[in-house]
Order: sequence, then C-alpha cells, then structure tokens
Amino acid sequence: MSSRKRCAWHQFAPHTVGLAMQPTRRVPAALPMLILPKPVEDEFVLGYIGRLTHVNLSSSCFETMCRLVVHFNLDQDYTPLRGQYYQAESHLDALALTSGKTVGELIRYHTNFDAEGLTPDVVARWLYCLMRRRKVSKQYPESKPPYLCRECIPQQVRDVGFSFWHRQHQLDGLYWCPVHRTALLAVDDWLTKDALIPVATAASVRTPTTAKDFDTYPVLQSFCEMMMGFLRHPLWMSVARIEDCLRRRAVERGLSLGAGDVAREPNDSLFLNDLAFNECPAWWLDEVFGMRKATADKSRIALNSVFSGGGFAPPVSYALAIALLLSPRERADILDGSSPSSGRV
Ligand SMILES: [Zn+2]
Repeated sequence: MSSRKRCAWHQFAPHTVGLAMQPTRRVPAALPMLILPKPVEDEFVLGYIGRLTHVNLSSSCFETMCRLVVHFNLDQDYTPLRGQYYQAESHLDALALTSGKTVGELIRYHTNFDAEGLTPDVVARWLYCLMRRRKVSKQYPESKPPYLCRECIPQQVRDVGFSFWHRQHQLDGLYWCPVHRTALLAVDDWLTKDALIPVATAASVRTPTTAKDFDTYPVLQSFCEMMMGFLRHPLWMSVARIEDCLRRRAVERGLSLGAGDVAREPNDSLFLNDLAFNECPAWWLDEVFGMRKATADKSRIALNSVFSGGGFAPPVSYALAIALLLSPRERADILDGSSPSSGRV
C-alpha cells in the first residue's frame, strides 16, 4: 500500500519546474485581478474553493478554477490528446499555487484522502468531476454531502473571522462533532450557492443521528478518534502491524478470521460484523458500511476483510475493527504512531 501512496506527481507541480520560464499565452488581460486568500488550518478543500468563488464573485466553482488556471498560466500545454485529465491536473496545480502550498501539502492538510486511504493521483480527477458537476464515482468517500457543526461556527468566527468547512466533519463515518459531541448538520450538495459558506440555518440533520447515539455507543467515539488519528498518521504506515494486532485480539475473542464465506465456515461462527451489531447502531452500520444484519453472505462485508492481510480493507473498516477489538492503550499507541502493544491489556 505504501508504494501506492508514494505517488510523486506533485513533483510536477508547476512551481517546481520553473513557472517563470514557461511561455505566457492567454494572459488574462481582460479579467479583473483575483483575490487569493489562503486556506485556514484544516479548511476542507471544497469549502476553500467555495470561499474563493464567493470573494471573486465567480458564477460557479468551475469558473473559479478556470480563472485560477489562467491566472497562473497553467494551460499552455493543453492538447486535445491530453484532454480532460490534463485539465484536471492543471486545476489542482492552480489551487495549490493559490493556497501557497505544494499539491502534496494541499492534499495532506486540506483533504481527508490520507485518512481515507486514497492516493493523490485520484484527487485531480475527483476534484474535476465535482467542479463539472459530473457523477462522482463511489470510490471517493468525499462525494458525501457537506457537514457542519452548529456549535463550531461561532468558535471559527472568533478564531479566524469567518466560518469555514472543517475537514474533520467531512470524514467518512463521522456524524458527530468530535469537539461538541453533537449531531452534524448536512447541506444538500457541495458547490451550490448555499454551501459556499457554511451557514447553520441552511443545514439540517440528514441521518437518524442523535447526540444520544454518540454517548450511548462508546465504540462510535473510538471510531471517530481513530479516523481523526489517521489524518495525523496515515493508516498505510502501520497497517501490517495493526492487522497482526487485530488478528491476535480476534482469536482471543473467539472470532472467525475467515472472510465470512458461509459455504466454508460453520453456521455458528462469530464474525467481526456480528460484534459490530452488538455495539453500534444499525442505521450507522448500514449508512457507512452498507451492512445489514440479514446479509447472509458475510464474505460481502468489507469489515470482515481486515483480517485478510495486505491492508486492502477500507480505512473505515480498520477504524471500526480497532474500536471494537483493541484496548484504549493499544488505540493510543496507534494514534501516537508507535506500534500497537503486543501484550494483553
Ligand atoms: Zn463542533
């Protein structure tokens, strides 16, 4: 998994290949000067684009991105052969230049891609699909609608002078503010006028989420902790050790380590997803994992594949498996970036 993550195409970011040497074609002489605020800490990339759109009075987020590309003269290598994919890269490059960061830093600090286990090379296409308002593939967890915490907004205004979309609230599987423990509110769609600037009154509770669930099920709190921890210590860095630790604990708890193939496993085998149904609300398991109690073929349940090795299960599955099986001490070790302790706690 680590080799997949070491995608180095941010090395091709224009600021690393001598922007000043590039020809200046299509200079935006007729366009007004753009206002280019920097993103604030943990501001989610889509919210940042919304803010740029808002302050520059663009008619859409896509128009903003095109204006940025022209502003930084990044479209001179465009050819029909490279087409759309190249355009997607140049949009991301332009955004990185606007933010004052490299593409790698922009992805690391303003998306959840590290925590959600997706490689940087898909970010450009993901962003481009969203900007063109095309259907976003299900492989992108961040295609979910924008979430905000009503109570975070006044704090953000006090801290930075305006409200912004916090990336933690957009993490897959999080429906509660980790600070205020309240149910997050959702807005219909990214990039609509309403969603450019987070306004609590434009949002509503989307799922059967209640603040009570978060307090009733401690596993949910541990899950949120792990997902946020993956932002600091991407899962792929220690996934092999985490898998070893999970397998040990699963054996101690009498769980089946198989993928859940009912044709091969005894009928009374206990799987990780059975444990999940005892300790998490059913609506949440359905919403995040597509897991229903009635699913007979447990090999189709991604959660059970955390024991298969190779780090191929989705990060939300590891986060839940860790929350269900590991001790607070072992979870803290993972969040600190050290290897999970091997002894029984
Ligand atoms: Zn909050």
